[in-house]
Amino acid sequence: MNNQLLDPWSPEQSADLYGIKEWGAGYFSLNADGEVTVSAPGAEGDITVSLMEIVSGIRQRGLPLPAILRIENLLDAQIVRLNEAFNSAIESLGYQGEYRGVFPIKVNQQAQVVEEVAQFGARYRHGLEAGSKAELIIALSTLKPDGRLIICNGYKDEEFIDLGLRAQRLGYRCVFVIETPTELPILIERSQTLGIRPMIGVRVKLSSKVSGLWNKTSGDRSIFGLTTNQLVAVLDTLKSNDMLDCLQLLHYHLGSQIPNIRDIRNGVMEACRYYVDLVKEGAAMGYLDLGGGLAVDYTGASINQEHSKNYSLGEYCADIIEVVMSTLDVHEIPHPTVVTESGRATVAYSSILLFNILDVTHFEPAELPEALPDQTHDLIHNLKEVLEGITPNNLQECYNDAIYYRDEIGELFKRGQINLRDRSLSENLFLEAMQRIAAQAEQEERMPVELEGLREYLADIYYGNFSVFQSLPDIWAIDQVFPVMPIHRHGEEPTREAILADITCDCDGKIDRFIDTHEVRNTLPLHPLRENEDYIIGVFLVGAYQETLGDLHNLLGDTAVASVRINPDGSFDVMKELDGDSIADVLSYVEYSPQSLLEKFRSTAEQAVRAGKISAAERREVVQSFYASLHGYTYYEH
Ligand SMILES: *Cc1c(COP(=O)(O)O)cnc(C)c1O
Repeated sequence: MNNQLLDPWSPEQSADLYGIKEWGAGYFSLNADGEVTVSAPGAEGDITVSLMEIVSGIRQRGLPLPAILRIENLLDAQIVRLNEAFNSAIESLGYQGEYRGVFPIKVNQQAQVVEEVAQFGARYRHGLEAGSKAELIIALSTLKPDGRLIICNGYKDEEFIDLGLRAQRLGYRCVFVIETPTELPILIERSQTLGIRPMIGVRVKLSSKVSGLWNKTSGDRSIFGLTTNQLVAVLDTLKSNDMLDCLQLLHYHLGSQIPNIRDIRNGVMEACRYYVDLVKEGAAMGYLDLGGGLAVDYTGASINQEHSKNYSLGEYCADIIEVVMSTLDVHEIPHPTVVTESGRATVAYSSILLFNILDVTHFEPAELPEALPDQTHDLIHNLKEVLEGITPNNLQECYNDAIYYRDEIGELFKRGQINLRDRSLSENLFLEAMQRIAAQAEQEERMPVELEGLREYLADIYYGNFSVFQSLPDIWAIDQVFPVMPIHRHGEEPTREAILADITCDCDGKIDRFIDTHEVRNTLPLHPLRENEDYIIGVFLVGAYQETLGDLHNLLGDTAVASVRINPDGSFDVMKELDGDSIADVLSYVEYSPQSLLEKFRSTAEQAVRAGKISAAERREVVQSFYASLHGYTYYEH
C-alpha cells in the first residue's frame, strides 16, 4: 500500500499508455488492482473477471504457460454483434431481404471454435464456409441439417461434389461456388447422374482494388474467381443444360482486413452490377455473398491504416445494405439475402496468448571507475572525454564521436592491441554515453533524426516463454501487429522500454513492433522483473489465423489451450483444456518414432554400463531423465 503512496501511477494511466480501451472493443479493461479484465455481456450487464484470476485457475488445474486462453463468451458476443448490426441496418433502412452469416472454417479450424460457432450461431442460423474437402467434412459433422448455409469454395473434385450433393438429400444446404470453369462440367455431370439439383454460386473477380496488408492480389489479377468471359461461358452452359434456376448465389472476396470503408462500398457496388445482369440473364439468384474483409482494429486508432479500420461495424452493415438497395431498386430487382463470410472479426477477440517472462537483458553500463588506469589506451581516454563533454547542444556530435571511438576500439581488440577487460570498459563507457544522450534527447522538443533509433538500441530484451513462429506467425510472416501488454501490475509505472524475444534461437523470433495511437512503435513499456514473481504478458486479438498457420520452428509445438466460459455470477468454468504438444508429439511430426528413440538411448546407456562408465542405478537415472524430457512440454517448464 505504501507503494501506491510513493508511486502515483494509476491503472487509468496504463490504460491510456497501452490503448486498451481503444482496441479492447469493450471486452478488455483494467481494474483497480491494476489487472487486465475481460468483460462478457450478461443478461444484467457485463460480467467482469480478472485475467490473473483465470490464469491462476488454469494453473491450479495443472495447465502450464505458455497457453492460449479462449473466452467462449467473446466468440458468442461477436456473433451477436455481427448479426444484430445487420438486422438493425435491415430494419432501419427497410430492406426486404435477410442477412445470413457464415463462418469461414480456415480462419480457426480448431474443433472447439467451430463447435461453438455452430452451437451459439444456431439462433441466427449462422452457417459455415468450407474451402476444402476436409473443411466440408468439419461442416457436415458439426452442423445439423437445419437449413443453414454451407458455402463450398475452393477447388472441388468429384469426391467433394458428390459428398455435398448427397448431403443435400439429408437437408443440408451446400452451395457450390464455381471458382474455375473446369468445375462446372463435373458438377453438372454428377448432379445429373445422382439426380440432385445443386445450389450453384459463381465467384467473380472484381476489378475494385483494395488497400491493406493482405490484399496485394485484389483486382483483375486476383487469383480466384471467374473473369467476365468465363462467367458468360458458365451462364451459357447452365442455360443449355436448363439449370439457370440452380444459379442462386453471387460471391466475391476482396481480401482480408480491409481498412477503408470506401473499398468495401466500391466492391458491393460492382458486385451488384453483376447481380443485376445475372438476374436479367434469367438466373434464379437470391443470395449475394460479399465474402470476408471486415477488419479488426488491432491498434484501436480507427483510421484507414493496415492494422486498423476507418469504420464501425454499424457503418459496415448500413453501407452494405444501403448500396445493395439503391443499386437493385433502380432495376426493380427483389432484395437478396446478404451473406458475409466474416472470419477475422468473428474470432480474433476470443483468444489471448499468455506467456511468462524468463529473463531480461539490459543494455546499461556496469559501474564505471572514477579515473581510468594510466596505461589505458588513448582511444579509451578519448571515449571518456566524449562522455564527460555531453551537453544539450552537442548531442549529435557526441553521438557520432562515441560511435567512432567504439568502432576504432573494436578494431584494436581484433588486432590484439587491447585486452578483453579494456574492451569491456570501453563498452561500458559507450553505453553510458548513449544513455546520457538518449536522456538528453528526450527532453528536446524534436528528437534529431539520427538519434531516433537510440531508444531501440538501448531497449531491454525481455525473453518470453513462447515461439513467434508457432503462436504468432503473422508477426513473422507479414509484420502484423497485435496489442501486447502485461496482464498485471498496472498500479505501477512501467519504467522499462523493451522488445520481446521468444525462446527459439532464431533472430526473427521476436516482437519489436507494437501498437501505438497512430504509428507503430518499436519498443514496449514494461515493468522491471521482481525476484521470484511471475511477470505475465498477454498478446490479444489472436483468435484469427494464428493457430493453424503456426509451425514447428525449433520443434516448439502447440501451446496448451484453455477454453473458459464466464458465468453470470462472475465465476468461470474451464470448459476444456488441451495439453500442448509433448516433445514426443513434435518428434513424431517430423518422422521420428519416440519409442525407438528411447530404445536406442537405453542401449547406448547399457553399453556405458558394460564399459564400466556408469552403474546400473545411474543408467536408470539417465534413462528416466530422457523419458521425462520426451514426455515433457516443448516450452520452458518450471
Ligand atoms: C479467408 C476468406 C474469408 C475470411 O476473411 P476474413 O477477412 O477473415 O473475414 C472469407 N471468404 C473467403 C473466400 C476467404 O478465402
